Parts: sequence; C-alpha cells; structure tokens
Amino acid sequence: MSSRSPARVRHLLVAVRGGGHSIPGFSTCDDGIVIDLSRMRGATVDAERRTAVCAGGALLSELDDAAQSVGLVCPVGVVSHTGVAGLTLGGGMGRLQRKFGLTLDNLRAVELVTADGGIVRVSAEENPDLFRGVRGAGSNFGIAVSFEYALHPLGHPVTHGTVVHPIERAGELAQLFVQMAETGPDELWLGFYIRLALPVESFPPGIGSRPVAAVSVLHCGQPREAERDLARLRAFGPPVAGSIEPKPHLATQRLGDEAAAWGHRFYMKSAFLHSLPEELVDQAAGHAHGIPQGAEGEFGFWAAGRAIAQVPEDATAFTGRTAAYWMGAEINWDDPMLDGPCREWARVGMADVGRFAAQGRYVNDVAESHRDARSIYGEGKYERLIGLKRAWDPDNVFRLNQNIRP
Ligand SMILES: Cc1cc2nc3c(=O)[nH]c(=O)nc-3n(C[C@H](O)[C@H](O)[C@H](O)COP(=O)(O)OP(=O)(O)OC[C@H]3O[C@@H](n4cnc5c(N)ncnc54)[C@H](O)[C@@H]3O)c2cc1C
Repeated sequence: MSSRSPARVRHLLVAVRGGGHSIPGFSTCDDGIVIDLSRMRGATVDAERRTAVCAGGALLSELDDAAQSVGLVCPVGVVSHTGVAGLTLGGGMGRLQRKFGLTLDNLRAVELVTADGGIVRVSAEENPDLFRGVRGAGSNFGIAVSFEYALHPLGHPVTHGTVVHPIERAGELAQLFVQMAETGPDELWLGFYIRLALPVESFPPGIGSRPVAAVSVLHCGQPREAERDLARLRAFGPPVAGSIEPKPHLATQRLGDEAAAWGHRFYMKSAFLHSLPEELVDQAAGHAHGIPQGAEGEFGFWAAGRAIAQVPEDATAFTGRTAAYWMGAEINWDDPMLDGPCREWARVGMADVGRFAAQGRYVNDVAESHRDARSIYGEGKYERLIGLKRAWDPDNVFRLNQNIRP
C-alpha cells in the first residue's frame, strides 16, 4: 500500500481480510477501509518439489484439495473455510501437527505488500528477521499476497473419529489420553473433550444433552498401524457413541465445517499447558453442567509437542512450543440474549487455568483485543517484535490485529 494510497493519505483505519475467521473481528472495521482478499483465491501444487503456492485470500479447502489431488498434504486447521492467511500468520494448529508441525513451520516463503507500498519476498534467505516475525505475528507487518508451503506425502486413508464415554469416566479417560499422547507415535494426534452429548438422538436414553467425556483421534500412519496404536482406547470399554475408522483425509477436513458455519455466535478462551492435572479435568467436568441452555460448549485438550517442539522457540514469533497440551473453552449459540451468559461461561471456566499454564498464548485464539500483545509472545520476543514493527510499519498502519505497538 503506497504511502500515497487513499487509505494512508486520509489516515483511514485499515482492515485486511483473508478468510474472515478472525475471532475478535479484526478483518473488518467501521469508518475505515477493508482490503478484502477474498477474490485472490486458489492453490497450485508442484508435485515434484512437494510445494504449494496459495493466493493471499485462499481457504484451507483449496490448499487441502490441491495437495491431496497428488497425494500430498500441508498441516492446517480443522475447519476448511478458514483462511490460509490468518491461520498461517498466527500459527496453524491441526490434527497433523505432531507429525508435520504447525502450518507456519511449513511456510517456505511469503510475498508481502508492506506499509510503504513495496512488495517484499520473505523467507529464510530473504529478510530472515521479518520471516521470523511473520511466523506468529504476521498480520502486523503487511498484506500477504502469496504463501509458499512445503508439502508431505499422505496418499492413504487416515484413521479418524471420536469415542464418547459417560462423564463419570472422565478422570480415567483423561489418564488414558495422557498416556497415549506421551507414548504414542508422532502419527497419532489426540484430543480429550468434555462437552454435552448433542444431538440428543445420537446417544442412548439418559445420556443425550448431559455432559460426556470424549477422545478424538487422527492417526496418519497406515490403518493397520493405527489399529495397533489405538488398541488401548478400544480396550477402554464400549463407548456410548463411536466413529473411529479409516477415512479419506479430505473427508475429515470437512467434518467440522457445518458446525462452524457462518452466522453463529462464538466465543473462546485458551491456554497452553505443560501437563493435564486431575484437578483441571474435575473442574472442567463440573463446569460443563453450567453450559447455558441452548448453547453448545466444550472444553478441549489437544496433544501438542513432537514436531512442534522440534523447532527452537526462538526460530519464530509463535510462543508455546514447549507445551504438551493446548486447552480451550469454546462455546457457540444463536440467541443474542445468551451473549453474556455464554461469554461468562468460558471466562469462568478458564479463570483458574493460569496456574497450570505455560508461557504464551495462541494469538489466533485470543478473542479480546489487547492493548499490547506482551502476554501472547512473552517479554523477550515482544521486545524483538517491536524492533521489527518499527522497521517495517512505524506508523502502525496494520493495527487491526493483536497489535505490536511500534
Ligand atoms: C470456526 C473456526 C475454526 C478455527 N479452527 C482453527 C484450527 O483448527 N486451528 C487453528 O490454528 N486456528 C483455528 N481457528 C483460528 C484461526 O486460525 C484464526 O481465526 C485465523 O486468524 C483465521 O484466519 P482468516 O484468514 O480466516 O481470518 P481473517 O479474519 O481474514 O484474518 C485474521 C487476521 O489476519 C489478518 N489477515 C488476514 N489475511 C491477511 C493477509 N493476507 N495478510 C496479512 N494479514 C492478514 C487480518 O487482518 C486479521 O488480523 C479457527 C477459527 C474459527 C472461527
């Protein structure tokens, strides 16, 4: 964006929109200008080099489809109508993260339109300091118009699904989840959940609409290896609902799309954890009974580490690589009257988690707009990011984000 562009000459507030999934609503604004990249779609793959190039407004579904059409994959998030831009520039957590890392760990280069109107290519070789900052604090430094990713082979079905057990077994199931996360292979991702048994008709009488405990898995090795690695979960006892079986990877990537469709109301809070103490599981199970009537809320715990932890903490702006788990309280609803109670439910549910939390927060999950992003990145990284912001965006043109204040 040239310093003579209408937005800059008139000192207009600038919002940049990729997929539009920003939880705090950063990709739009009143009394300003929205630079909407939604017509810059598409992903192309070079099967020989195992790379993909996505336009700045592409959605995860486009990257997934293009990569899978030649038996390759990039690890991305779990709702396919999310934008690659916001996801990558903040992190990119998903079910392949223990094997292949975060989305930003697979970013090879990005083309950025900077605040002074220039276009720069940013990679490990070109502008390496900016490359470090872009991977985790990316929306602060410019408008990304193309992303280049490394891809990995994944040509066979993955083993994916969920087993649901009564809430009374939450403690035991959490212990099994921890054991499997600690001792299972990198190919195995697991999530432990406490949520309501919905829709009611999918559960036996007496279970529907009550809190339940669940484990979701995705094993990206061969199906027979997956069965071996999931034996302990199968032996835990018959679930009240279960769906673990081999599926095409693309099918798993679409499964959450409808539940996360546009138009619903949503709030969340999250943290990184070094461990999963029994106390936290009990607390979550108790709090699940208070999910406001008419809302769908859950506590989720995702196994992290492995490929994520292989990348040195200082290599990127993303903070939280040493965490063993990510924890989130997420809630969605439709009735505006529930806005207050639903937000409060998530806030109270996470209020006491700080004492178990690791340093840093996942920037893409932070639903409030912070005056400064110090608590997200940690003191040392934040100071370094200020230096980068002063070099690339001294007037803070790109400030609709978790802002690094120059
Ligand atoms: C339903 C749902 C599911 C999600 N699932 C996951 C998940 O599985 N894993 C995960 O890690 N995260 C997940 N998230 C969080 C998600 O990663 C963030 O909301 C992300 O910022 C969305 O990116 P976007 O491009 O769609 O959003 P946008 O709203 O377009 O943008 C988000 C931020 O990035 C900036 N931005 C957008 N495009 C560009 C660009 N081209 N150049 C520079 N800055 C840009 C915006 O200005 C804004 O600050 C989910 C969010 C939702 C709402």
